Amino acid sequence: MTLTTSFYNWGTPSDVGDGENVRRNSTLICVPIMAKTVDKMLVEVRKAKQEGADMVELRLDYLNSINPCDLQVLLEHSCLSTLVTIRPTWEGGDYKGDEGVRQSALRKAMELGADYIDVELKVADEFFESIDGRENTKTAIIVSSHNYINTPSVEEIGDLVARIQATGADIVKIATTAIDIVDNSRILQLLTYSQIPMIGIVMGEKGLMSRILSAKYGGFLTFATLEDRGSISAPGQPTTKDLLELYNFRQVGADTKVHGVLGNPISHSKSPHLYNVAFKSVGFNGIYLPLLVDSVSDFLRTYSSPDFVGYSYTIPHKMAGLECCDEVDPIAKAIGAISCMIKRPFDGKLIGYNIDYMGAIAAIEEGLLQGTSNGSSTKGSPFDGKLMVVIGAGGAGKALAYGGKSKGARIVITDSIIEKAVDLASKVGGKVINIAELDDFAPEEGMILANATPIGMQPDIDNMPISKKALKHYSLVFDAIYTPKITKLLREAQKSGATIVYGTEMFINQAFIQFEKFTGLPGEYQEINRFLLELQRNL
Ligand code: NAP
Repeated sequence: MTLTTSFYNWGTPSDVGDGENVRRNSTLICVPIMAKTVDKMLVEVRKAKQEGADMVELRLDYLNSINPCDLQVLLEHSCLSTLVTIRPTWEGGDYKGDEGVRQSALRKAMELGADYIDVELKVADEFFESIDGRENTKTAIIVSSHNYINTPSVEEIGDLVARIQATGADIVKIATTAIDIVDNSRILQLLTYSQIPMIGIVMGEKGLMSRILSAKYGGFLTFATLEDRGSISAPGQPTTKDLLELYNFRQVGADTKVHGVLGNPISHSKSPHLYNVAFKSVGFNGIYLPLLVDSVSDFLRTYSSPDFVGYSYTIPHKMAGLECCDEVDPIAKAIGAISCMIKRPFDGKLIGYNIDYMGAIAAIEEGLLQGTSNGSSTKGSPFDGKLMVVIGAGGAGKALAYGGKSKGARIVITDSIIEKAVDLASKVGGKVINIAELDDFAPEEGMILANATPIGMQPDIDNMPISKKALKHYSLVFDAIYTPKITKLLREAQKSGATIVYGTEMFINQAFIQFEKFTGLPGEYQEINRFLLELQRNL
């Protein structure tokens, strides 16, 4: 299944604004208000306005009681456009009262000038009969259907859309539940082709992309919560602030390129913060999403459209990502894992890279060049011919060992589990030493040391993986750890006269390289630097 972007634009003109703040969609941000009293509801409406929402959904089913006076107060004092909903328990809401009373309250909301009301599909025909001839109302009627179990097939949802349209609805609303991230594609596809305004939402953590990409595919509105997350009417709703500031929601348009990080779990990832800030800073028309993926191959097969262009890979998908590539960078292949995948524009082929190794090697190369007397390279890489000792044969150790080897270093590996060191050394063509031999290992002077263990990482900050006295044999010491930035190992290495290279450099370099691969734009690193400095301050 491929997705194409909407040809149909419902609201205000897109591409309004200038520079980086160009508005590329007319999708509205709607905050559900679910307080128990009218006063509290009005406070929340004001908050929603301050936070940048376009409209509110007054969920009257959460009020202690509903009466015409309260409704009038709410509609008269709301500073945002209003959608009035009284969701009954039989459709997942909180209203347990009489159906006739409920429908008459909805008619009253129309009379009082609500901008929109929501009527459930199950009672839509009955409701439309009761308002026979509604020429005098300015209220648009949303007819809705909610599925809290799953997301049906595209044919079934298509039938549902047709049934809703047949009721006379002004706006179609379909909300389903994501079992898998691929479920979003069916709703997004229907948004694209809908002939009348449509709200298409997939609920649950795996449905987040539907809420954000509704702007790309022409959704009429998306729901978001207040910053304090007081009112969440369905699982998976982002905050208005996240939509506007983290995902640059107003700038998402039909031609926006989609990127993301594939992982499981993924909600902790800082990558969306980093890349969305960086994209915005250079005016790049792209978005970067957290993608909670179960099967990499299913994800890539489903989102095969040319607009889905670049991904980062994190635990546990780095190896599965490699298997889905059409072409893989030779060192990534040797390491057995990718951290970045790009869809090549001219043929759509998926190309995999291991940026972790590129970032680490670039950082150490810079350190080695600074360590030379004039700071300039002789011929080839400054690694060439050096002896590089790597402590730790895990993910970072592999990246460092393969990277150093590819630049001409001779590699020695040690690990607390000797079998791991032996395995990596045999693959990379290096030697092994037992961890107990490390402190006395000094076959030559001026060696490179790379720590790829967590020894020294918070909270273990008073430890280091090698003795102080052994450090004198090394001219450069790199620590992959970046929390804290200055580890005990680096402090002691500096005292013994070695050039030191921080783990943050590896982190920053891999972010720079990945940013360049995503955007094709070189150089604009200020925002990435600023973001990473901020991140370090908060760690
Ligand atoms: P990993 O896959 O768990 O690998 C760590 C390896 O070090 C394991 O094989 C571990 O053995 C071994 N080890 C632990 N203590 C040791 C000791 N005292 N002596 C020798 N070997 C020891 O972890 P990783 O993903 O490679 O990460 C390692 C460190 O690099 C972490 O601090 C991580 O935060 C950092 N890192 C930084 C970046 C960056 O961008 N700067 C990127 C990736 C990783 P066991 O299996 O027995 O524990």
